[in-house]
Amino acid sequence: MDCVNHPGEDAPYSCYWCHQPICVDCESKLDGRSICPSCLAQFRAQVAARYEAEQRNVGYFGGFLAGAAAAVAVAALWSQLVVWTSYPLEFFAGLLGGGVGYMVHVGSGKKRGRALQQMAAVLILVGVTLAHYLIFYRTQFMGRLAIASGSPIIAFPGYLSTSLDFLDWIFLVVGLVWGYWIPHVRTLPQELS
Ligand SMILES: [Zn+2]
Ligand SMILES: [Zn+2]
Repeated sequence: MDCVNHPGEDAPYSCYWCHQPICVDCESKLDGRSICPSCLAQFRAQVAARYEAEQRNVGYFGGFLAGAAAAVAVAALWSQLVVWTSYPLEFFAGLLGGGVGYMVHVGSGKKRGRALQQMAAVLILVGVTLAHYLIFYRTQFMGRLAIASGSPIIAFPGYLSTSLDFLDWIFLVVGLVWGYWIPHVRTLPQELS
């Protein structure tokens, strides 16, 4: 069969979108499949339009509010369950990361971008710190130093002086990676860039 663009040229490939026969010169790969020049151009235009739409009207304030609310809510729930169960439940740091990343994404109007990723990462670190502080305050300082002083703030140096253990670090990293990944901008397939 002849190439759709080059009469007389042998067409060993067919485009997986339009199924037209194409020659070696016309063939490109998209996700490992053969695609013709005109479909490739259409695909590029669609991807570019989607990027542009995602960069428009990013609701940074909404993303921040939703992410912060998620961080505080998960931190509060986490500390409450630790008080009830007496287990540290480190995996909550992972859930907190995913929850914050998702809410930053949704709160921004389902947008993506580096600034939203960085916002999510900061909120995750603040949320995990808050959770550890609440857990420390509510389980170790309850009825002792902080209550005696009448201020939970006094417990904070105590929290900072206790180091995070191995599992804490593992789940903190899991949460950070997950939350940072959710609002990331999808990139073009390697062969198109
Ligand atoms: Zn095609
Ligand atoms: Zn051709």
